[in-house]
Amino acid sequence: LPVSVRNMSTNKTRDIDYQIHSQADLRFHESTGSIVMTKGDGIYVIDEQGNRYIEGMAGLWCTGLGFSEPRLAQAAYDQMMTLPQYHTFGNKAHNKCIDLAEKLVQVMPTCGKSPLNKVYFGSGGGDSNDTAIKIIWNYFNAIGKPEKKKLIGRVRGYHGSTVVTTSIGAQPGMHQPFDCPYGDRFVHTNVPHHYTFGKDGETEEDFATRMADDLEKLILAEGPDTVAAMFAEPLQGAGGVVIPPATYWEKMQTVLEKYNVMLVSDEVITGFARTGNMWGCETYGMRPDLLTCAKQLSSGYLPISAVVVGQHVYDAIADFSQKNGVFGHGYTYSGHPVSAAVALETIQIYEERDIVNSVRALSVPFVNGLTDLLDHPLVGEARGVGLVGVVQLIADKETKKAFHPSVKAGMKVFTACEEHGLIPRVTPPGDRLAFCPPMIITEEEIKDMLGRFRKALDSVE
Ligand code: PLP
Repeated sequence: LPVSVRNMSTNKTRDIDYQIHSQADLRFHESTGSIVMTKGDGIYVIDEQGNRYIEGMAGLWCTGLGFSEPRLAQAAYDQMMTLPQYHTFGNKAHNKCIDLAEKLVQVMPTCGKSPLNKVYFGSGGGDSNDTAIKIIWNYFNAIGKPEKKKLIGRVRGYHGSTVVTTSIGAQPGMHQPFDCPYGDRFVHTNVPHHYTFGKDGETEEDFATRMADDLEKLILAEGPDTVAAMFAEPLQGAGGVVIPPATYWEKMQTVLEKYNVMLVSDEVITGFARTGNMWGCETYGMRPDLLTCAKQLSSGYLPISAVVVGQHVYDAIADFSQKNGVFGHGYTYSGHPVSAAVALETIQIYEERDIVNSVRALSVPFVNGLTDLLDHPLVGEARGVGLVGVVQLIADKETKKAFHPSVKAGMKVFTACEEHGLIPRVTPPGDRLAFCPPMIITEEEIKDMLGRFRKALDSVE
């Protein structure tokens, strides 16, 4: 082992000895090791040396209620002591997954094409999108349109790490090294990032029109009868917190609806108040046919996800299952009772604390604080909505010249942030720093978080 690693704590060396890390340069990571967390406290996580970090990403867009909510621990304990495991295969159910399904339907957005009222549970965002894909393919077989199977994703979209969701997302680093099958069922349209891809003098509205025109060209080139659905995050999170331009969703949907292409709102990040409404699709006026959610569904305390569909989709696949003898899909942990109990308690807390209005109020200092960073020479774009936001680093503000990837600008700022006790996230294309703090953050803590970020920026100048 390199000297640097041999001097690490036992946890760090055991981590390198035994674990493969997600989304890491594995050899580089062997030389640096991990920051090993041992405790959570509100918006902070604390490492084994006792350093406290503001978790500016809520532990990967998850812990809306922070890292030490005792009611969630109690809900898990109580359920463990009552019915720790059960399933929903065939004719079996249990009370917690029924309660949670009912609750989820009650909090669904009303902007869907039809009421979203049937829930299928999973364990994570990726498998919920896998389920949504299978439901869509099953649906079009059921209604006698088996040729309607193609799925549209977006460049830098992110819908999970499974083989199929990797194919709908379009992050080259996740495809090429694995030969993940883009295949002819998966096509991609533009990332709607005006700051980077807007032409000289092109307004956001004109840019949105161009995005919708490109979508229409794509559908026509593929053949509208072959295109089943578009998968979209209301705002692209892991692909760089790309906040869509005004009118973008209205224009995109006009095209989708013209060619009977379904819309899946992937709310794995944007669900549960993150954008200042309960659902991101409400913030952007989207009319989804299906909705997927995870992460903040249980404040990330236990793995759980859900796909919610309308009655007409359910009716078609139910009739089809009768014909075939089975709806042949199932996860052992679908609707797991302990996860369901924690999710129910999470939603209960969101409601008691009026989380939507609380996020709206906190959004003002958060978004203002982000835009204040625009005076910094390294900051090209700084935007936020609700309690999710982004800062784009730029080599030259006037010409919008990006840093060369070899500079690793994002990673440099990220490392400086960690030294200042703050954890943001570097997102594609490598120079965008994302923020998605726990929704329990206070105004003072927002100031502290962005103050630490500014110090980190100053330290790498
Ligand atoms: N969909 C979106 C929008 C996500 O941001 C993510 C993860 O960040 C996923 C799906 C995948 O979720 P998971 O990692 O739980 O499979």
